[in-house]
Amino acid sequence: MPLNRHKSQDLFKDAKEILPGGVNSPVRAFGAVGGEPLFIERAEGPYLYDADGNRYIDYIGSWGPAIIGHAHPEVVSAVSDVMSKGFSFGAPTEIETKLAQKIRQLVPSMEMMRFVSSGTEACMSALRLARGFTGRNKLIKYNGCYHGHADMLLVKAGSGVATLGIPGSPGVPEGATHDTLVAPFNDLAATEALLNENKEQVAAIIIEPIAGNANFIRPSQEFIQGLRKLCDEHQTLLIFDEVMTGFRVHLNCAQGLFGVKPDLSTFGKVIGGGMPIGVYGGRRDVMNKVAPAGPVYQAGTLSGNPLAVTCGMKTLELLENKYSFTELSNRTNRLAVGLRDAARKNGVTLSSDSEGGMFGFAFSEAMPKNFDDAKAANIEAFNHFFAAMIDEGVYLAPSAYEAGFVSTTHSDDDIDATIEAAAKVFSTMSQ
Ligand code: PLP
Repeated sequence: MPLNRHKSQDLFKDAKEILPGGVNSPVRAFGAVGGEPLFIERAEGPYLYDADGNRYIDYIGSWGPAIIGHAHPEVVSAVSDVMSKGFSFGAPTEIETKLAQKIRQLVPSMEMMRFVSSGTEACMSALRLARGFTGRNKLIKYNGCYHGHADMLLVKAGSGVATLGIPGSPGVPEGATHDTLVAPFNDLAATEALLNENKEQVAAIIIEPIAGNANFIRPSQEFIQGLRKLCDEHQTLLIFDEVMTGFRVHLNCAQGLFGVKPDLSTFGKVIGGGMPIGVYGGRRDVMNKVAPAGPVYQAGTLSGNPLAVTCGMKTLELLENKYSFTELSNRTNRLAVGLRDAARKNGVTLSSDSEGGMFGFAFSEAMPKNFDDAKAANIEAFNHFFAAMIDEGVYLAPSAYEAGFVSTTHSDDDIDATIEAAAKVFSTMSQ
């Protein structure tokens, strides 16, 4: 039964009149799945409540930050205490150092770091630093990986132009992406070839260590460890963009999980617990080049503001001390396996995978190994499934190319209810 969404529909009409596409970030518009967005009024634990009063089990978690659920009472209380003392001073505060120390305790490669206000800024700044440090201009990214919307990273790389920097959006001048080289994910030989063709010119390789913006693409151990070796051989900096995977796939992040130490890393999402934040950091000798310690300029009016830092600090503390990451991983795995089994029982081809509190599923025989695989899955089946799940009160990411997220507040009952709802939907779509 379709849910009543009249208020959401009216609110969307008003929004479209004044906000481009009715939203402040494109994927929220549900355009990829041919629907209209739900306007959310509040959220609590694993649940979202829309303007019409419908409740959903939320597997987006604000696109990753809500790892201990929405509006956790201890986080709300910590933020409220700080808020009453002022929102932002544009001056140093003790808590910034404390959050940095907490991040370094969990991710030892982060010897020094700089807070910014978004994942986009973190990646953009890390690359400026890599270029400043190495004196080289080129960078390598992977097809299907998203690192925010800085010009040089907005490179659309279809298979035929996989190694050319073609701007992925009007407004991005060719000059901005000229030095951006693109390789297929999980393809070490292609990466090596790019490094050899551009000897002593590649400042950095940037990668999502598990690609979550092209469904859920796991790197082979050979690939991810091979990148470290290649970077050492070519004196190219290895940057892990852990904006999504950071404190999401493992308490020590993807780098702890895979046992690979990047030169620089970027984080966002979980480290702000839902407030705007990002951070980049890594090797001390590299980070010491950041202004005012060094010459590479980067600044921000709201960088390290007390609200975001407190929200992130409390979130990380609770995640580390109050909740079990193993339990979160097991529950997420149960969801991924449950969805796959329910599909197959109903004659629907589906594969799935998960790591920590992050999961993905694809309407294909096997999980994608690169972006071309992800694009080859049955996207129509996904769109149908997504819309039907909304009507069952389950809020999944509105795109076949996005990973999903489970929080420590999702109960076994929530997972069971989700699998049950999925089985019901699959039974109507046998192929
Ligand atoms: N890097 C990755 C891996 C991301 O998933 C995102 C956002 O989804 C970003 C960077 C950009 O972060 P933000 O949206 O905070 O600018």
